[in-house]
Amino acid sequence: MTAIARTDLLDDLVAANHILAGLGVLDGFGHVSVRDPDDPDAYLMSRSLAPELVDPDDIMAFDLASSPRHGDTRTPYLERFIHGAIYARRPDVHAVVHSHAPGVVPFAASTVPLRPVYHMGSFLGAGVPVFEIRERFGMTDMLVRNGAQGQALADALADRSVVLMRGHGFCAVGDSVPVAVFRAAYTQANAALQQQAIALGGDVTYLDDAEAKQADATNRSVIARPWALWKARYHRRMGA
Ligand SMILES: [Zn+2]
Repeated sequence: MTAIARTDLLDDLVAANHILAGLGVLDGFGHVSVRDPDDPDAYLMSRSLAPELVDPDDIMAFDLASSPRHGDTRTPYLERFIHGAIYARRPDVHAVVHSHAPGVVPFAASTVPLRPVYHMGSFLGAGVPVFEIRERFGMTDMLVRNGAQGQALADALADRSVVLMRGHGFCAVGDSVPVAVFRAAYTQANAALQQQAIALGGDVTYLDDAEAKQADATNRSVIARPWALWKARYHRRMGA
């Protein structure tokens, strides 16, 4: 990858932090990463910092065991193991979002599965597993703090786009930063609409698997449009 492309990718990564904060998917917590375009066994992510405060200089490089590279001694996120473990298990994944968005958390605590209630949530049609950290790790502080916990989370995600984390939040993955951001944003939107649909009290009709597959293919072909909007807003806010 050329130096210019790497610069663009870093700009996307920093923008993703601000965009997801602006959408309420991230607040003081949560993080976004991207696989290193020059080394598939590494990824890039901010030092421990609220996403809305992330600048290009805050980006660190990690190996897939989630150890900082290049002797970087800045404080990393406690839950960086989420990212390394997912990249290790999923060669197709190039970006990961981890969020504690409150609107999604109820579905991680309930037997009601998160399902696509409209076309923008169609990527959820493949099923949304719930990671139960108690199963292997007993009583914890709910955080994914080491490689074994990260691997168990990646195992729960398996080949899906989104995994919920009971009592904690969720992760969304994609083959690019825009796709991961899109999925994180519309996981939150779908969760809100699904709760509203359930609250109406009638029977809820979700997208059929065939509908979800077709809608997902369509959405993937137009992701550049919302991404251009989100990035333009970010650059305007930053005065660029
Ligand atoms: Zn977390």
